[in-house]
Amino acid sequence: MMCMDFTRPTEQVTTLSKYADAFHLDVMDGHFAPNLALSPDFIKAIAPFSSIPLEAHLMTEQPDRWLEPLAEAGVSIVSPHVETINRDGFRIANSVASLHLELGLAINPMTPISAARFLLPRVSLLTLMAVDVGFSRQPFIPEILPKLAEAAKLREQEGLKYLIQIDGCCNKSTFKSLRDAGADMFVMGNSGFFGQSPDLADAWKLMQQDYESATGERLGRTDG
Ligand code: MG
Repeated sequence: MMCMDFTRPTEQVTTLSKYADAFHLDVMDGHFAPNLALSPDFIKAIAPFSSIPLEAHLMTEQPDRWLEPLAEAGVSIVSPHVETINRDGFRIANSVASLHLELGLAINPMTPISAARFLLPRVSLLTLMAVDVGFSRQPFIPEILPKLAEAAKLREQEGLKYLIQIDGCCNKSTFKSLRDAGADMFVMGNSGFFGQSPDLADAWKLMQQDYESATGERLGRTDG
């Protein structure tokens, strides 16, 4: 949602609630990521207009500071970055559980899956970054494809349950290779969705056509 039209957020959240599976909310503190984005107060303001789950992608240092404000804002899943939690991973996982939130984990392009290895049994959503954090409109990093395949294989080998989400550059030129390598969910930003049309119902149709012609699969909501 960092790619939305910020002059009309509630209207866009209402519209997208009809189409999307969840909202992906980028929370950036200007330290871990070289940008500032969606605050807990802003998320709290738009939450009543959503009828689908809210996921906070925590691109912040000290992610534990933001768990309670985000839970209060109405978020149901939080994805801190594995790079920010190494010394406190299990403490943070326990805090997330005590707030009745689901635990996600996000991984930068430069970080191997092995860095998340011991937490994966507790994770419901694993987000692999396909660009470095901070900005939209960056080029796709194809080096993440083997890592994506590794995450899917590990899930199968170990009987784990996480969904694999890709964040960054999900569009008609990447849908097929990402899907083939094991992606379950796509975070839609400028290149694949918001840039298609200012009318988000139209943008959704265009994205759906792009996805279906690239992959040969129907794009539908997981709830049908
Ligand atoms: Mg994100």
